[in-house]
Formats: sequence, C-alpha cells, structure tokens
Amino acid sequence: MSRPILPGQTIGVLGGGQLGRMLAMVARRSGYRVHVLTSESDAPAAPFANRSFVSDYRDEATFRQFADSIDVLTFEFENVPSEPLCWVPERVPIRPGPHVFHATQDRIREKQFLAAHGIPLPRFAVVPTLAELPAAIEAVGCPAVLKSSGGGYDGKGQFVIRTPDQLTTAWQAIGAQSSTLEQFVELAGEFSVIVARGVSGEFAVYEPIYNEHANHILDVSTSPSGVPAAPAKAALEIAHAVASAFELVGLICIEFFWTHSGEVLVNEIAPRPHNSGHLTIEAHATSQFEQQLRAVCGLPLGSTRQVRPAAMANLLGDLWEHGAPRWEEVTRVPEAYLHLYDKEHPKPGRKMGHLTVCGESSAAAVRVARLIRQQLPRR
Ligand code: AMP
Repeated sequence: MSRPILPGQTIGVLGGGQLGRMLAMVARRSGYRVHVLTSESDAPAAPFANRSFVSDYRDEATFRQFADSIDVLTFEFENVPSEPLCWVPERVPIRPGPHVFHATQDRIREKQFLAAHGIPLPRFAVVPTLAELPAAIEAVGCPAVLKSSGGGYDGKGQFVIRTPDQLTTAWQAIGAQSSTLEQFVELAGEFSVIVARGVSGEFAVYEPIYNEHANHILDVSTSPSGVPAAPAKAALEIAHAVASAFELVGLICIEFFWTHSGEVLVNEIAPRPHNSGHLTIEAHATSQFEQQLRAVCGLPLGSTRQVRPAAMANLLGDLWEHGAPRWEEVTRVPEAYLHLYDKEHPKPGRKMGHLTVCGESSAAAVRVARLIRQQLPRR
C-alpha cells in the first residue's frame, strides 16, 4: 500500500473555487502545503494556497510544473479537461482516479456507468442529435427534462419538455448538443449523501442532508434531513455501491430524488465536496473538506457523527443588489456562521458565500437561517 501523505507535504488542487478554498483552509491548518491550478487570476482558493498556478488547464508547461511540485492531486471542480492528467508524474497519485473524473464530467457517461452498476435512476434516453429526440420522448414519456451532456450545473443546459411540440425549442435552449432526456420526477424531496472511501477500501458515510432548490440552484440544506428511515437506508446503501463501483479514493456526493412512493433515484454525482455538505464544517465531527483531505492523503477517515442540528443557506450575488449586505444580522446571532468566498463581482445567481446556523433542531436552524438571510439585503 502507498505511504500516507503527511503534513509538510503538498496537496495539488485542480480548480480554484470555493470548494478548493475550504479544502485549502483545513489542509493549511493541519500543516500541509497547498498548490492550486486555476484558470482564474482572482481564484477564491488563492489566498489560502502556498502557490497558485494561473493558466489554461491545457497549457502543458504550467501543468507539468504544477504536477511536479505536488505529492497528491485532487479536484475541486470536475469540468476541467482530462487530457492533461497524463502529464502527472507516476509518483503523484490522482485521487479520485481519472476514471471517476472521466465518467462524472459527462452526463451520458455518468448515467451509463451508474445504470451498468444497477444504480436506480430516473428513466432516461441518450439523445445524440435532434433527430433522435422524438424516439427518446416515446421511450421516456412526457413531461421530461432534456439535459446537455457536458458543462451543465445548477440547472444550466436544461429544459423541461411539457408537450411534444417543444422539441426544437428545447434542443436550441440547451445549445443543440448531445444530451440525455430524463423522466420528469414528481418529487417528495431531494437530499444528498456524501461518502468517502479510503485507500484500503474503508467507508465513511454522512447521514442524508435535505436540499431545497430555488431557480435550479441549491438554496437551503438541513441535517438531520427528516427523510424517513427506509429511503434513508436505501440511499446509504446506494452511496456505498457507487463508491465501490468506482473503487473511489476520495469523497463523492450523490444527489437523490425521493418520490412520493418512497423510491430513491440518483439524480447526479459529484466526485468532490458539495455545496450541500458545507454544514458539516460546524455540524459534524469531521467536515467534508477534512474528510476529503484524509481520504486523498491515505489517512484513516474521520468520524461522520453529527454533533448538532444545522441548516445552511446559500448567499447569492442577488443579495448585493443595493450594496454590501448587512452582515451585522449574522454576527449578532451566536450560532450563525458566515462564510464568504472573496469573490469580487456579485452577479445574480453567483455563489458568493453561505451561512450555517446551528440549533436545537434542523427545523429551528433552517427558520433562523432563512430569517437572517431575509434581513441581509439593503433596500
Ligand atoms: P441538476 O442540475 O440535474 O441537479 O438539476 C437541478 C434541479 O432541477 C434538481 O435539483 C431538481 O430540482 C430539478 N430537476 C432536475 N432533473 C429533474 C427531473 N428529472 N425531474 C424533476 N426535477 C428535476
């Protein structure tokens, strides 16, 4: 077995967004060095990195320099090209492995991988061109959701087809590219499960986190989730199965749809920490970022025990419409924790930060989180 990567050694992170920032914060706290490769000159992770390499991911000279300077490579963002991974020297483990990264970058590959491993999914069909869309509608039924195969997140590249006369409109709306068509699921709710798998195949799984979306973007997450025992158990088993199927070394988040008949279906997966897991920073014995660090460094995994109920509310750029939000609304609440990502341009829909509130119950925490957020904007 490979030797663990220990404090003093260097974690290489592909991508420089807020997930890389929060990983870098825990890694630096524990004495690791962090090198980040990012395409943005003002990346949120940069202030916590010992060194940032700013370049296009395909720039071979910079990529090699970055890869030569690290002891393990991990990701905070999966939509980076996979070709440069062959420039990583053999002594540097890539965790999760390139096969995980390859499968989860593309919705078609991801669904085919999961279906081949017997993971329950919404009914779906692959739609390479507009010509195949009518047959896909026949197979999947209407309403259905057309989703572009690559590059889509936070509901981007999606169109809900309600009547068969919308096919051309839907195809144009998602950018006329290869896609999947999925059954539109009548949701009882959505939740996510985060699971880590270590180098010797051991697992650490977090209990489900309940997620509410607004405009296709995650809005609020709460834990404990309130998901009944049977669907929760089914989801934890699926999470194990997915991590095993990938022979994962690292951490993965599985987003679930939960239907009125109690069925759980996998919506999508992300081979990295996830927005819904941010509340683990304050609410769990080991945060998802600490867990990612442990898994990719080959250390024993941390406890996923929840220490106190919590809710997380995203802070989008919309809150900045009339100037910087009134942060005193957060700071006056003893169990409210503000996280800002150092992003300069608060565009509507852009994730600028989040707020976690701990409380006696997740219902109480979510009430306070929503109330604080409501009071933030200047009018
Ligand atoms: P995604 O980017 O695929 O996670 O989709 C964003 C959100 O759109 C999901 O969290 C759901 O709220 C909604 N959504 C996506 N696909 C479906 C579906 N097949 N049925 C119902 N709602 C969906």
